[in-house]
Amino acid sequence: MEVDYIDEILKGKLVCPEPEGDGKPLSVPTKSVVIEDTLDGMEADLVSDLGFGEKLAVVYDLNTKEALGGRVERALDSIAKVVSVELPGRPHADMETAEKLAKETESADALIAVGSGTINDLCKFTSACVKKPYAVFGTAPSMNGYTSVNASITVNGLKKSLPACAAMGVFLDLTVLAAAPRRMILSGLGDSLCSSTARADWLLSHLLFSSKYRSEPFLILDRDEKILLEEPEALMAGDLSVMRHLARTLVLSGFGMTICEGSYPASQGEHLIGHYVEMLGSQERPESFHGEQIGVTTLTMARLQEMLLQQEKLHVVPSTRGKNDLIDHFGPDLGIACWEEFSKKRLTSGAAEKLNEKLEREWDSIRERISKVKVSYFTLLDVLRRAGAPTTPEDLHWPKSLYYDAVRYAREIRNRYTFLDLAADGGVFEKPDFLERNLKCAAGSALKMKSLEQFPLRKLREVEYVLADIDDTLTKDGYLPATAYTALERLKAAGLKVVLITGRSAGWCDHIARMWPVDGVVGENGALYFHMRKFERDGEKHEKLMKRFFEKNEEERKRKRDSLGKIWKQIRDEVPRAKLASDQDYRVADLGVDFCEDVFPPLEEAEINRIISIFEEHGALAKLSSIHVNGWFGEQDKLKMTRILFKEVFEENLEEIRDRVIFVGDSPNDAPMFEFFPSAVGVANVRNWGDRLECEPVWITTKESSDGFGELAEALLAAKGHIPKTTL
Ligand SMILES: [Zn+2]
Repeated sequence: MEVDYIDEILKGKLVCPEPEGDGKPLSVPTKSVVIEDTLDGMEADLVSDLGFGEKLAVVYDLNTKEALGGRVERALDSIAKVVSVELPGRPHADMETAEKLAKETESADALIAVGSGTINDLCKFTSACVKKPYAVFGTAPSMNGYTSVNASITVNGLKKSLPACAAMGVFLDLTVLAAAPRRMILSGLGDSLCSSTARADWLLSHLLFSSKYRSEPFLILDRDEKILLEEPEALMAGDLSVMRHLARTLVLSGFGMTICEGSYPASQGEHLIGHYVEMLGSQERPESFHGEQIGVTTLTMARLQEMLLQQEKLHVVPSTRGKNDLIDHFGPDLGIACWEEFSKKRLTSGAAEKLNEKLEREWDSIRERISKVKVSYFTLLDVLRRAGAPTTPEDLHWPKSLYYDAVRYAREIRNRYTFLDLAADGGVFEKPDFLERNLKCAAGSALKMKSLEQFPLRKLREVEYVLADIDDTLTKDGYLPATAYTALERLKAAGLKVVLITGRSAGWCDHIARMWPVDGVVGENGALYFHMRKFERDGEKHEKLMKRFFEKNEEERKRKRDSLGKIWKQIRDEVPRAKLASDQDYRVADLGVDFCEDVFPPLEEAEINRIISIFEEHGALAKLSSIHVNGWFGEQDKLKMTRILFKEVFEENLEEIRDRVIFVGDSPNDAPMFEFFPSAVGVANVRNWGDRLECEPVWITTKESSDGFGELAEALLAAKGHIPKTTL
């Protein structure tokens, strides 16, 4: 049987399984954690096992009294003298309320909290102040503070994390938790998801500055967290077995913080962004729960971390932010408090030099290590979407400009070095439009095309075939970056079938089909496909290039080529700056006219239009790619040839399996493919075509050309459970 981490920790039996652990069992002050479908009838026994004494103060507010407080109070009546403390209205976890609570519970031997965030914080803080034990009956799975030893208390208007008592007993009735307001459940989910980004941040700080780091808090979460990532719908539908995993995650996350003597494993950059907005945002906007906010900020951190991990080189510069800048930014009191924190990690020129040496030597191994432990942005986004949780700052009614400031400056409020610091020190935020382009406050909202991030994960998982255009989809500035080639390789290695669809010549296709990691290539806009056929003869494996032409008759192909020759003469006369495509000698079926590959400056729109009409006057078809006008005689097009390829190579009817195929392209000649495939994707540069695009793809990537292709590949691989590779 699998060991139960909660039980093992309570018994003091769990030793860190990692080699770097110190061999000592993990220990926490909590004595008892009971999580059951229902605790109805068990309340008195649970509390009397703790040996709290004869007089118990039961603390609740109006809502939690209704949810569970009344029941707990009645049950405890049989074992102790109960002092009932109902906090009026909507209580706040602040110093004044805590002082009042201490007075009202003065005669009691112990506190029994019935509630979640606020009530739990008040009770754990008060019991630490008055040195009395406390236990908690949770009413919502909204936060991870049941088992932690800090409480979030407002002191003179400033939210602080203060030392508090750990609950001796944590009792979670899953039926009660599942009946909690929906947004409180979303909050617990959001606050749980951040363990991935917090881990990446914490590990970064450890690898860069040798600060303390422990992996146990994450190892103990693994199993429960995995189910949360898989079953957000069931959680929200009230499935108690999934609710149990959320409850366990929250308990174990609190244990993780206790073990590490600090919130390191559950609060890093994502919490800093949230705290910044809380501190500097207007109090007017509609309230949102802590964990709802953390869900959104976690997505931002995940994206930022992935972007930085993709950088092959990073170079930091000394910080130019001084004490006065912080006072200007945060105001006098907060500014000085922030400076005390920030000045400890602020990069001086000496520190920047040292860090650069480190990055120079170790960045590759650092990013590899961090990439291995983080959950992909797409997975996190998908989980929150499926649960119906907020995913953008707008969802929380946070203004965009406030949010961008939060991402840039939140690092200044606490002395923890996170990816927010690495981004700022690396000058990433200085790039024009960086936040606008990469944080996507309103992802794709102005466009008909939907951001690829919104692609449902389940549909991505079903994809078996990837069809991709080459020019300006795989290539960038006319060359094939490793990003794109690696993406092809990895897609193929993951078992996906990859076919390239291009206007390029038969000569190119011969090379591509033979040497690239693809299953075939449709070339010359559908005039042909080439495919390396594998076969066995006399027990030996062979491969042979199979060439299939749309026009099967070779004589006929030659006759059409001659007619295209006449068309070229006319184009050359009328549009003198037009050039024959450099690969024309290697073409079998079409005529490529270059308007911008080797032609500089590129032809004017009127010239391009004239080329197209000359083709059409001769009864030929003409299509515009990003670099050529291609014309040909015949019925072929990319889609028709792709159908033939699917039938002959994969023995599949393309019509029937459309949902399992993704096409990705960038230009007007891809329009028929965009139209045909319900999951067509455009790389971001597809936007440049504006009206010339007859049909838009449904989805659009954030990045352009090869990087956009890499982004799509990464999403596909992540959906299929492959760990992202940093070079993507
Ligand atoms: Zn939190």
